[in-house]
Amino acid sequence: MNPLLDFTGLPRFAEVKPEHVTPAVEQLLAENRALVARLLADSAAPAWDNFMQPLDDANERLSRAWGQVGHLNAVMNSPELREVYNANLPKITQYYAELGQSLELFNKVKTIRGGAEYVTLSVARQKIIDNELRDFRLGGAELPQEQKARFLAIQEELSTQSSKFSDNLLDATNAYAWLVEDQTELSGLPPDDVEAALEAARAAGTPGWLFTLKAPSYLAVMQYAHSRALRERLYRAYCTRASELDGGKLDNTPLMSAILKLRAEEAGLLGFANYAELSLATKMANTPQQVMDFLRQLARRARPFAERDLAELREFARAKLNIDDLQAWDMAYASEHLRQQRYAFSEQEVKQYFPEDVVLPGMFKLVETLFGLRVRPSQAPVWHEAVRFFDIQDADGRLLGQFYVDLYARNSKRGGAWMDDAITRRRTASGIQTPVAYLNCNFSAPVGGKPAMFTHDEAITLFHEFGHGLHHLLTQVEDLGVSGINGVEWDAVELPSQFMENFCWEWDVLQNMTRHADSGAKLPRALFDKMLAAKNFQSGLQTLRQIEFALFDMRLHCEYDPNSARPVQQLLDEVRQEVAVIFPPAFNRFPNSFSHIFAGGYAAGYYSYKWAEVLSADAYGLFEESGVLNPAVGNQFRSEILAMGGSRPAMKSFVAFRGREPSIDALLRHNGLLEQPQAA
Ligand SMILES: [Zn+2]
Repeated sequence: MNPLLDFTGLPRFAEVKPEHVTPAVEQLLAENRALVARLLADSAAPAWDNFMQPLDDANERLSRAWGQVGHLNAVMNSPELREVYNANLPKITQYYAELGQSLELFNKVKTIRGGAEYVTLSVARQKIIDNELRDFRLGGAELPQEQKARFLAIQEELSTQSSKFSDNLLDATNAYAWLVEDQTELSGLPPDDVEAALEAARAAGTPGWLFTLKAPSYLAVMQYAHSRALRERLYRAYCTRASELDGGKLDNTPLMSAILKLRAEEAGLLGFANYAELSLATKMANTPQQVMDFLRQLARRARPFAERDLAELREFARAKLNIDDLQAWDMAYASEHLRQQRYAFSEQEVKQYFPEDVVLPGMFKLVETLFGLRVRPSQAPVWHEAVRFFDIQDADGRLLGQFYVDLYARNSKRGGAWMDDAITRRRTASGIQTPVAYLNCNFSAPVGGKPAMFTHDEAITLFHEFGHGLHHLLTQVEDLGVSGINGVEWDAVELPSQFMENFCWEWDVLQNMTRHADSGAKLPRALFDKMLAAKNFQSGLQTLRQIEFALFDMRLHCEYDPNSARPVQQLLDEVRQEVAVIFPPAFNRFPNSFSHIFAGGYAAGYYSYKWAEVLSADAYGLFEESGVLNPAVGNQFRSEILAMGGSRPAMKSFVAFRGREPSIDALLRHNGLLEQPQAA
């Protein structure tokens, strides 16, 4: 039997081969299409059991099988697997597009919504039906035929233009290189970065040192190079990428204008006043005005701290670096030197205290205490020998969920860290289906028979992904569409993950998850205090920078008229006049490389970073008020937030947990932005 078509238990990773993929996908797609045809031909009144349930069952089989393929493609990539993955991806996309735009399916769901059964359904099922109708509408299913054609054309054009935007940016980034021939220009750069530049030059067949605009090379120069001329040169190239100042061939300006016009037209077709309203239709934030008020409130609070940060940096640059007129290309350089001088400890020193065999049990112990759980090693077929598998049980030993942990970087794994769902909790004909999650990271593997050592940042990343995992695994919802992280608003989905990060800054928690690699000592208090002090370095400046981007994004999608002749850059200048304390030089073309909003999924959504941080910080605030390891509060978090998934609006879950709507004070306090600023 094809292991991808076995849905009776855990994925059979040890047996899945690239040749299983195409037959499985084709069989499932054929079965699902036949089912859809049967459902549409059925003259009986559509109801949950004869319509929603069979569709859910069918789509779950497809997403479980394809999920395994996608997972393997991300963690055990090979040329063979990549080929079958890419060959089958368009078939899957096509299938879901058919479903999403089917007026007939839409009408069946509408019938259920308007029928007598709807009010008898559970809150979760009602929410699923409401979400479905919303998504059909936003997908254009309800438009008259002629507008539907235009709507589809807009979607296609938008995806082409967005992908051209990122291609231009990538090409512009890759097109630039600067050759340093005089060794004295390299002064200040760490030896590894000098070596990398030497390698790059050698690869290009030239003597000297080659620097590029790719992050490791560019950032090293901006932070460490003593040569101000070198920094200025690279800064100029970096900040004019894909603009009219960059040779013009890869200029993103016309694409930005086209993308904004298409988005405004799309929103208009669907009956929204602007694209920001369309973007917020699926999010926790209600209106663009609410988001802008939030950002401006945060800006007012952060501003005095940002002004202090900047004044200190100017003073330091003047006194210690002989820079009297601090420029944009001096910022990272001066900041790095100030940081080093102020908080004398190294990342390497901290790393000696975080071995995997203490960090992982420490994290498990924490959730056992907080949420009344047990985490136990378990067995499952895995895709790589380094992968481990665990059970999460309730205090009485009842199985709640299971998860894989794949921690180390390897060539076959894509970068970053992420949580993904393998199986989602739901009730089936044979009972409750236990949820299963993947936790994937890219940490350094152990060497020399010793346990792997994590940096503090890596420990934070692990807690973050585990937070997503708990959201998926501790759900009590019994229907697929809103179980675990399914159906959770996009600007609220980072609540549990960012929430978990906070524990990596708690002295009591760190005592249970640190042990020096050689001496065996726990993290010393003096080192912890230094880490805490450094945590909020320049947080005023960083906060204002995020707000500047988010406010620009929101105003661009609700106030700016894309059909006017007004350059996008002018709006950014206006936003900066309002909220910024740092003003980049006139040649800076930041919008031309703002791919989050022009090529990623963040259009009228960049604010989500700060929005979710407010939620997670404020939720954590209740733990701080009542003792961070308080199981009563932990249980409340588990039942009101983690268990509810997307079965009710995120705001309702938050209020049920916190007893009130979110406040920004906890975020300000965590970032050191609450008390009046004092010179450090
Ligand atoms: Zn996350």
